[in-house]
Amino acid sequence: MTMLKGKTAVITGGSRGIGCAVALMMAENGADIAVIFSGSEAAANETVASADKFGVKARAYQCDVSDFAQSKIVCENIFKEFGKIDILVNNAGITKDGLMLAMSENDFDSVIDVNLKGAFNFARHLSRYIMKSPAGRIINISSVSGIAGNAGQANYSASKAGLIGLTKTIAKELASRNVTCNAIAPGFIETDMTATLPETVLEKVQTAIPLKRMGRTEEVAALALFLASDAASYITGEVIKVDGGMYA
Ligand code: NAD
Repeated sequence: MTMLKGKTAVITGGSRGIGCAVALMMAENGADIAVIFSGSEAAANETVASADKFGVKARAYQCDVSDFAQSKIVCENIFKEFGKIDILVNNAGITKDGLMLAMSENDFDSVIDVNLKGAFNFARHLSRYIMKSPAGRIINISSVSGIAGNAGQANYSASKAGLIGLTKTIAKELASRNVTCNAIAPGFIETDMTATLPETVLEKVQTAIPLKRMGRTEEVAALALFLASDAASYITGEVIKVDGGMYA
């Protein structure tokens, strides 16, 4: 499969979950990949080793995406190593759920810092390279919580709604350079992030999903692959849900 042959993609939070699926699907389709991780180096190295099997170049970089200065250095290092960058997938994200009335300042700030500022940091530092690509792509992983709101997720929903504003603005600012920017809004996807949800919540959620199941990481990655490909050249500023019909 060669949809992304010759492209270089940077995927934040690519060591596990949705980010790992995106990195591997892009690698399988011919893209060289830079995987950004914050926690487990072993998991990031596993993603890189799996990507290697597709015969592409793959590297892992440790970086806290919420740190503007550190992100800048890592972005420069990626460019030095790969020589060009065509695709950025802002996927790194965290949750610190709790009702708004009891939410601490730190829980609000840290979720905004990783989910929203982290995406800004990487878009800000990589855009200068992506603008040089004949078909640059920025893909932000938002959430249906950012579209509809979700009780217990004031910080997360605000960060993911903010990402939609960021997406639409980048789409307008970089359109003249042939860079598209779109957001993916997943519903409930089976990953470590949702594994901690109580059984009662999971049962309720599945009843509310018309397709009657949670999504798989590959089902989100497939949309990221399409948006990154030449087939999506006239789509920009969009927010596309992958949620089994939950918010249709
Ligand atoms: P996950 O917890 O499995 O993975 C999150 C990734 O982000 C990890 O690789 C982690 O190391 C990385 N990360 C966290 N903080 C970071 C930081 N400061 N710097 C760099 N990397 C950092 O989660 P997931 O379910 O795979 O989620 C991936 C994205 O999809 C997130 O943005 C999440 O909000 C979004 N999302 C997930 C779901 C879902 O149901 N799983 C639904 C909607 C949106």
